Amino acid sequence: MMQAFRSRLGFKLLVSYLAVIFVAVAVLVSATQISLPGAFNRHLGGMAEKGQFGQGMPGAMGPGGRGQAMMSDLYRGFRDSFNEALALSILAASLSAVGVSLFFSRRVVAPLQAMMAASQRIAEGHYDERVHVPGNDELSQLAGHFNQMTERLEQTESMRRQLIGDVSHELRTPLTVIKGMMEGLVDGVLPGTPETYEQIHKEADRLSRLVEDLQELSRVEAGAFQLRLASMQIRDLILSIDKRMRPQFDARGITFQCEISPNLPAVTADEDRLLQVLINLLGNALQYTPSGGRVDLTAWQQGEQVAIRVADTGVGIAPEHLPHILTRFYRADPSRSRQSGGGSGIGLTVAKHLVEAQGGKITAESAGPGKGSQFTVFLPIASPGK
Ligand code: ADP
Repeated sequence: MMQAFRSRLGFKLLVSYLAVIFVAVAVLVSATQISLPGAFNRHLGGMAEKGQFGQGMPGAMGPGGRGQAMMSDLYRGFRDSFNEALALSILAASLSAVGVSLFFSRRVVAPLQAMMAASQRIAEGHYDERVHVPGNDELSQLAGHFNQMTERLEQTESMRRQLIGDVSHELRTPLTVIKGMMEGLVDGVLPGTPETYEQIHKEADRLSRLVEDLQELSRVEAGAFQLRLASMQIRDLILSIDKRMRPQFDARGITFQCEISPNLPAVTADEDRLLQVLINLLGNALQYTPSGGRVDLTAWQQGEQVAIRVADTGVGIAPEHLPHILTRFYRADPSRSRQSGGGSGIGLTVAKHLVEAQGGKITAESAGPGKGSQFTVFLPIASPGK
């Protein structure tokens, strides 16, 4: 019990205050006792010499004189009354100092106790716990940082939960289809035709793509990829994309147009990663634009940045979906996305991470369903000399 009390910060603070009080009292008593005779002689002895104590007190205080005996009595009386007053004052001062020490040690310890209790609750999984310490001193700053840390923990925890939920949901769909078809085959309900096997293969393929996407997502979200940033010309990149993608647009009967502003400055980017982002955006445009539609790849300078836009005349995105479209696993229309061979809603999230890692940003716009979509990548212009 005593041991536990001793290990408390409040007890340690109180003991340190008491030690300060004790030292102050010891110094006060010693100093007064040492300086008292000298001070007495200077002040009261001087008065006696001047005969201020009346008749019968010869000015000289020579040895054996009556005056000296009186002065000794006077000194004793003065010392006793002084010591009495000193003892009383020390008692009063010590009591008040102990009271004030208790108050201040409580004030220091209370926020720490609050944080201790909160951290205990957080360790038990209550991430909504916060502490409030008024003021602007180090303790309240510590409480502020503690709350920030808790908030980050809460976010991470909710992302983790959501990720597990999303991943299991994504895995469940193809697995259910494969399992159902296999059961049908085993029971002889489903004919073992090439179409059936093709369907199973398609779902297995979806599963393996999902796992690959997840691997890529976890890599980019953890920042576990190497960027080779260098000054590069967007024009060269777009020309190579044009060559690579045009046959796919032609095959789908979609008009594909590239337009690059003249005198476009170089940007600082990782060419391979930027290519990956643009191929992803163009792949989506290809997927969500019906034949007869049009896809434009445009690049121009905008302030200190170069903007690269992929605009399509396809199915568009409803305003309620637009703010979430860059969030992982988000699909504006999951069933349509799946039917049209779409993925798991990871591509745009990966693109966003890759662009942001290169110091740029990516935006999504759409006038609404059926009115096409535009995805724009902004990248910083390369500073001269780089
Ligand atoms: P997915 O692999 O499902 O296409 P993405 O992250 O690339 O995943 O896209 C997320 C969602 O954004 C898609 O499911 C689709 O609903 C929507 N989307 C992306 N690009 C377009 C586009 N060009 N037109 C309309 N919707 C799009």
